[in-house]
Amino acid sequence: MTVRTRFAPSPTGFLHLGGARTALYSWAYARHFGGQFILRIEDTDVERSTPEAVQAIIDGMQWLGLQHDEGPFYQMRHMDRYREVIQQMLAEGSAYYCYCTAEEVEAMRERQRLAGEKWRYDGTWRPEPGKTLPPIPEGRQPVVRFKNPLEGDVTWTDLVKGEITISNQEMDDLIIARSDGTPTYNFCVVVDDWDMKITHVIRGDDHVNNTPRQINILKALGATPPLYAHLPMILGADGEKLSKRHGAVSVMDYPEQGYLPEAVLNYLARLGWSHGNDEIFSMEQFCQWFDLDHLSSSAAQFNMEKMAWLNNHYIRQSDDARLEALVRPFLERDGAVFDGAPPLQPVLALLKERANTLVELADAAMLFYREPKPDAAALAGHLTDTAKAALAEYAQQCASVEWSREALSGMMKGVLANHKLKMPQIAMPLRLMLTGQLQTPSIDAVVHLFGRETVAQRLAKYL
Ligand code: GLU
Repeated sequence: MTVRTRFAPSPTGFLHLGGARTALYSWAYARHFGGQFILRIEDTDVERSTPEAVQAIIDGMQWLGLQHDEGPFYQMRHMDRYREVIQQMLAEGSAYYCYCTAEEVEAMRERQRLAGEKWRYDGTWRPEPGKTLPPIPEGRQPVVRFKNPLEGDVTWTDLVKGEITISNQEMDDLIIARSDGTPTYNFCVVVDDWDMKITHVIRGDDHVNNTPRQINILKALGATPPLYAHLPMILGADGEKLSKRHGAVSVMDYPEQGYLPEAVLNYLARLGWSHGNDEIFSMEQFCQWFDLDHLSSSAAQFNMEKMAWLNNHYIRQSDDARLEALVRPFLERDGAVFDGAPPLQPVLALLKERANTLVELADAAMLFYREPKPDAAALAGHLTDTAKAALAEYAQQCASVEWSREALSGMMKGVLANHKLKMPQIAMPLRLMLTGQLQTPSIDAVVHLFGRETVAQRLAKYL
């Protein structure tokens, strides 16, 4: 058996983290078994589906590198197929026309409510052996209902939740086509899962209730239902369902916020699945390890700090050329001036250890790409006469010292000794003069990166 999984988002909003995790698990499961991963856009809710949301899904998947093997398929393009299956079911008797109007259904609902019963279609139009159906009302367009079994149970072994049994008495005859002939949600899912030969349906557990209905329809079609794995939802740190309030909306917000796709993927991989205590692993490794036996059956809690920690790890691992390409747009947006400034790659190499995001990295790097504007009072406080004298000597020696971090460090020590000063006494004013700020990485590294000329120019302004 070839494993075939699918990710089947409805394009009604962003690709959010929960969706991305579902996609990741479906993708990894197919990869693990050398199977196929299918992307299917469930766009039959025409009111709520938008082309922008379709694009957001495709962009998000691409950014994460979750390459599909087949698709994207669009359900709106499968209408003829759904109608064909509906006709087939009507012909075989597993579906039937129901001529009840919306008002009649409403009245039925009300009657049942008053009688304290659970809502259930009363079977007026359900054909049964020996039963006479009401006369067909003239000019009325019927809906099509699925003839759900009246007796027995539906049982499946959910790969996350274990065995689940739902009595058929809990389910009524689902409408599979509306009176205008359009097929309904659960029906389209069933036909596509069947046609696409899906072997494993991995999806959010908000679909658990749909599963017995879908299994019944599949069985009526003579199809073998796929295996199901329903993933628990992702909660925010406060235990509420993850939402906009938690700042994590669209997957495509993450590149904006300076996250690397491998950090997001690694984070999502661990959010609801585990491989011992392994926290950091590549997608290659994940695809080798990933199975459905180590999925957690309880809701996962989103933890921004952990994701930032992973992002820091992957930023440190990234080579500087890649970082340059990613960070440059942030710097440009912030008005960085590259002319006469140090090359970006060594700057990023110096700063990347401490950056949790590319935005933080860009913010830190800005110190090399903007005109320093030291605060006058701070400068007056730090640039004492003794410091000035020492810095004058430092500036003078800068003209001829060998331009390496080691030599600059040795030179600094010499100047400190000559003037009987401690490091901060000249490092602080030096920082202010060169960068306008008091906090920078190691002053020798900063001086080294700025280069002899810029250092001379900036110090000359104050000495
Ligand atoms: N289209 C559904 C959703 O976006 C998923 C359906 C499924 O995976 O079966 O929630």
